[in-house]
Amino acid sequence: MNEVKIFGHKNPDTDTILSSLILEGLEKTLGVYNVKAYRLGNINKETKYALDYFGVKEPELLEEIEEGTPVMMVDHNEFSQSVKGIENAKIIRVVDHHKIANFETHEPLFYLAMPVGCTATILREMFKVSGIQIDKITAGLMLSAIISDTLLLKSPTCTPKDIEVANELASIAEVDLNTYGLELLKAGTDLSDFTPEQLINIDSKPFTTNGVKYQVAQVNTASIEEVMKGKAEIENAMNSFMQSNSVDLFVFMITDIIENNSQIIVLGKTEIAEKAFNIKLENNTAYLEGVVSRKKQVVPNIDKAI
Ligand code: MG
Ligand code: MG
Ligand code: MG
Repeated sequence: MNEVKIFGHKNPDTDTILSSLILEGLEKTLGVYNVKAYRLGNINKETKYALDYFGVKEPELLEEIEEGTPVMMVDHNEFSQSVKGIENAKIIRVVDHHKIANFETHEPLFYLAMPVGCTATILREMFKVSGIQIDKITAGLMLSAIISDTLLLKSPTCTPKDIEVANELASIAEVDLNTYGLELLKAGTDLSDFTPEQLINIDSKPFTTNGVKYQVAQVNTASIEEVMKGKAEIENAMNSFMQSNSVDLFVFMITDIIENNSQIIVLGKTEIAEKAFNIKLENNTAYLEGVVSRKKQVVPNIDKAI
């Protein structure tokens, strides 16, 4: 059979990259499909830290696919967040933990969605159901993805299942959950050598609801103040992104991973964001106490406000 390409979303995060590699490993063991993991963009520093720590090579870059290419999607389903050409792909599997939107297939498929904190948590269940043991490296990759997506089990997206799985994986991977977890998250907070254009693209996703096109980007930091020093330049980058992509609303989240709060910078249809969070923006910005999750605390509120 043709090669089946496995990939996560654009502007890849740690879960997207590592879950692609983990599913590749599982499918190779199952032996039904000739699979290969890919990435849809550059890996970030946090992901690099995890790959280096467990001695795993990053997947190859995939820019677009031809009509009829068999694929497996992890950590996303919206076509706007996927590879160029996805509309005409043959989608064999989706393993994901996001809301389902702007998604349609031509043929039946295996679709596994669970409302847990991380795609890797769902993959761990797939290993279990298949009766396949998790080796030390796979456990390390799964654990890293869970730590990243749940901000070390503190995000409101984190479920009891994620906590149970993370503890089990930490012992298989032979790492201390908290020590390794903090090191991993800290690796992702080094924003010093990014241009404002890069900063708003590290972890950025497009959404469309009732015809309103909006973008939500997020960076992790240990100091919101430090990032806010570049506010004017960040706003310029957001403005030109909105113009070239005809985006109606842009929300940029600067998330403090130690205190678990976010500062947001909002441009475009700001009244939607003000309604969504019941706030008044001052100089396009506001501080959101306890808000860290795009998928659970930001996107649903924006959708409702629209
Ligand atoms: Mg992701
Ligand atoms: Mg994820
Ligand atoms: Mg994320």
